[in-house]
Parts: sequence; structure tokens; C-alpha cells
Amino acid sequence: MSKITNPFDIYKLLPQTNCSECALPNCLAFSAAVIKGQKKLTDCPYLTVENRELLANRIIIREEFTRARGEDLDALKNRICFINLSEKAHLLGARMVSGKLAIKSLGKDFFVDAKGNVTSECHTHVWLSVPLLSYIVHSSGMDPTGRWVPFRELKGASPMEPLFVQRGEIPLKKLLDRNSELLEDLLGIFSGKRADNRLFSSDIALTLYPLPKVPILFCYWSPEGDMDSDLSIFFDASAERHLQIESIFSLGVGLVMMFEKIAGKHT
Ligand code: SF4
Repeated sequence: MSKITNPFDIYKLLPQTNCSECALPNCLAFSAAVIKGQKKLTDCPYLTVENRELLANRIIIREEFTRARGEDLDALKNRICFINLSEKAHLLGARMVSGKLAIKSLGKDFFVDAKGNVTSECHTHVWLSVPLLSYIVHSSGMDPTGRWVPFRELKGASPMEPLFVQRGEIPLKKLLDRNSELLEDLLGIFSGKRADNRLFSSDIALTLYPLPKVPILFCYWSPEGDMDSDLSIFFDASAERHLQIESIFSLGVGLVMMFEKIAGKHT
């Protein structure tokens, strides 16, 4: 049986009643705690014996998952060794500098050598370095189409969609509810572009480029009268021609984690 690295695969087998008897607010939070090794399956009194057996010994807790991501990085590096970076540079919207591939991410140069080592003046996070190498290996070179789609409409995204909302869209909406000017600040910090907010009738629309041909659009709707605020993250429809869905998820959620850190420093 396949291993489980995604909390949603646990969530699917839970009762989904959000009763909180496990001392967590809901079943999704419980799933996330199990994958981090903070809760055991037996902490949910309503998980059926049958489903517990289905999950038993298949869950890779987060530390192991991080190691698995490290292995992904090593596998990608091995593949980079067989790619002619100079030939692929143009296709990727990148350039060669002193024998290394220079790729712009959020306005900053990241350099990749022939062995797949990533360097930059900025800190290189795993949430970015894995998609960056994956982009070099998998990108078709297709230019953005200009058609924006939510994460759930990308190929293979549906099982990860609840987690994308929980770890990406909800935390960012909360951040902007507290500080709606944050998106404007991010525009300057990460060389973003103001997008045409008539597109989705949003109050703020901002495009960032974590990879040259993989733009991400953030739209925020301010609260109005009885209406709560809202936030959506969109990807260009061509994103799946550049990256596997795990890397697209990693870029979206990784960016939000970084915004949270920046907002924390500003308060
Ligand atoms: S006890 Fe079980 S059913 Fe209740 S919220 Fe926790 S995980 Fe969900």
C-alpha cells in the first residue's frame, strides 16, 4: 500500500464531524497534527477500526516527509546533471551568467550550476528550491496564457485543494484583514506587478513571479457591509506545463508562509 504524506489522505477517512473531542478544532487540524507526529490515530475516538487499519503504518510523519523532500531535491539534482543549461536557458526565461543558469524569482537572481546546486544572495528555502529545479527539468517553455485559474482547476489538484485553502488562502486572508496594505508592500519587495483588478472585480490584485513563466495572482476583496472579506490565489492555466502539482502547491503555500514572516517583522 502507498505511503501517506498528505494530511488530506488522513482527513478523507475521518468522520469529518469536527466534534473536537480530540482537543483540536476540526478533523482537518487533527489530520495535520497526525502528520506532524503530534497526535495518534487513536486520539480520535470515532475513527473506525477499519479505517484505522487502512491508515496504520502508512503515514510518514513530517520529519520523514522533510527528508523525503530532500531526496526529491537530490533526484532533481541528478537529472539537472544531464541537462544542457545553456540550451534550455531561453526556453525558461533565464540567462547564463559565468557558466550558471540565472533564474529570476520574485525579482532576485537565483543561480543553478551544472550539478543542480542553487545559490543566491537571498536565503534559499526548500519550498522554492524544489520547484526551481523542477522547473528546469519539467518546463515545456510555454509562455503564460493570461487565463487565470484557481488551484483546484489544475491537473491533480483536487485532493490537495482543502489543504491549499487551509495553509494558503485562509492565512493570507487573515493577514490582509489585519493589514490590507501588505500586498502593496509586497509589490515593492518582490518586484510584483499591479494586476487589472477589474478582472475579478477585486479591490486589490497583485501578480508575483516566483518563476519567470509561472506567475501567481493574488486577489483580495475588502469587507463591505455584511459581506466578509475574501481572498483567492490564481495560477496561469499554463502552470501545469511547467511544474508538477506538488511544486505548484509548494510555491503558493511557501509564498504565504514567507508573507506571514514579513508581516510578523513589520508588527
Ligand atoms: S475527534 Fe475525530 S471526529 Fe472529532 S474532530 Fe477530532 S478527528 Fe474529527
